[in-house]
Amino acid sequence: MNKNNELFFTKKEIETIREKYPTPFHIYDQKGIVQNVNSLYKNFSWVQGFKNYFAIKACPNPYIIKILKDQGCGADCSSLPELILAEKVGLKGEEIMFTSNNTPKEEYKKAVELGAIINLDDITHIKFLEDVAEIPSLICFRYNPGPLRKTKEGNVIGNPESAKYGLTKEQLFEAYEIMKDKGVKRFGLHTMVASNELDSNAFVETANMLFDLALEINKKLGIKLEFVNLGGGIGIPYKPEQNPVNLIIVSNEVKKLYEEKIQKNNLAPLKIFMENGRMITGPFGYLITTVIHEKHIYKEYIGVDASMANLMRPGMYGAYHHITVLGKETAPNENKYDIVGSLCENNDKFAIDRVLPKIEIGDILAIHNAGAHGYAMGFNYNGKLRSAELLKDLDNNIKLIRRAETTKDYFATFNFEGSEYKNLV
Ligand SMILES: *Cc1c(COP(=O)(O)O)cnc(C)c1O
Repeated sequence: MNKNNELFFTKKEIETIREKYPTPFHIYDQKGIVQNVNSLYKNFSWVQGFKNYFAIKACPNPYIIKILKDQGCGADCSSLPELILAEKVGLKGEEIMFTSNNTPKEEYKKAVELGAIINLDDITHIKFLEDVAEIPSLICFRYNPGPLRKTKEGNVIGNPESAKYGLTKEQLFEAYEIMKDKGVKRFGLHTMVASNELDSNAFVETANMLFDLALEINKKLGIKLEFVNLGGGIGIPYKPEQNPVNLIIVSNEVKKLYEEKIQKNNLAPLKIFMENGRMITGPFGYLITTVIHEKHIYKEYIGVDASMANLMRPGMYGAYHHITVLGKETAPNENKYDIVGSLCENNDKFAIDRVLPKIEIGDILAIHNAGAHGYAMGFNYNGKLRSAELLKDLDNNIKLIRRAETTKDYFATFNFEGSEYKNLV
């Protein structure tokens, strides 16, 4: 996987791009994304019917979803617009996974209409789904192991016991039983207990837990599951000293468990699915921003033309995102800065006390690992506009895959004094 300090562009390239598409913008590397997803598939090629349902929320751009579709990925959706995005790029039926929670009825209707795999988040949703749409022939449930599974402090999803998702173990068995009585013949099982997890063991443990459950479900209910979905949550090394999850180890360990628990008990073929978002596109996207101010008060501040509205993770979770000052890659790191945006919120900082080469106004900063949960989490607070998304394609051409918002977009949803805002750009 892409190490933190490898850029897929040079300062000169960005300067040229910037003439046409002003900063801030997000830029993605098609080659990196394709290689990365191919290596994920290669690692799990022993699984009959392995599939990664790309979690659309990580990078909800149809160009990106299409690239992933062409590599064999499906889409994991959790809202009506996400379902429509999947539909628009040509994903069909069971290539779409619908993993939602607290779901409005229109969303179930659309998911059923598309023939998506519906992953129910609660036992009460069986009746809800039946009332608002219909029970499909294939159904999946999201399992929440609660106290049966501990995760580390700081997990974004939280400890399973205090996470709002999924069914308890007891409910899970009841739910399969109800569905069986309703005539459902095909079943899946899903869980997601980790987020941005770098420990390979966590994913092996998850597979182990689901394989055990598959056995128990078979024994108690006579149901042979068609697939288990390990969820997403594979982390990426945001910090230079971190390492990516070793997927070869994960795959080998999961394979051993599969042979021991699934094959030996005649439960094969059991497909294995995942729904990773972050590890698929995260390392292959950067937020590019230009330095517009420097400020010397009690601390040294560098003001950039991007803000938390373009990348919320540092402000929201105190997340680390590596920063490269373009053209100064080999300059000594000798200055300590807070790198800030322009929101009237003091957490609008991309980095705090970051030691970097000396920065001047006009310098371009590349903020790393912004390819997932970056643009996607953007917002309009303080009247900030969402930035453009660019793609460096396989021929090294730069494609605009989403234009930047304009003031006109900002005003588009008001119905205030008629059309006078129409002249805005
Ligand atoms: C967020 C989410 C994912 C993707 O998580 P990543 O950390 O981007 O891999 C997958 N499945 C569900 C249900 C999610 O909520």
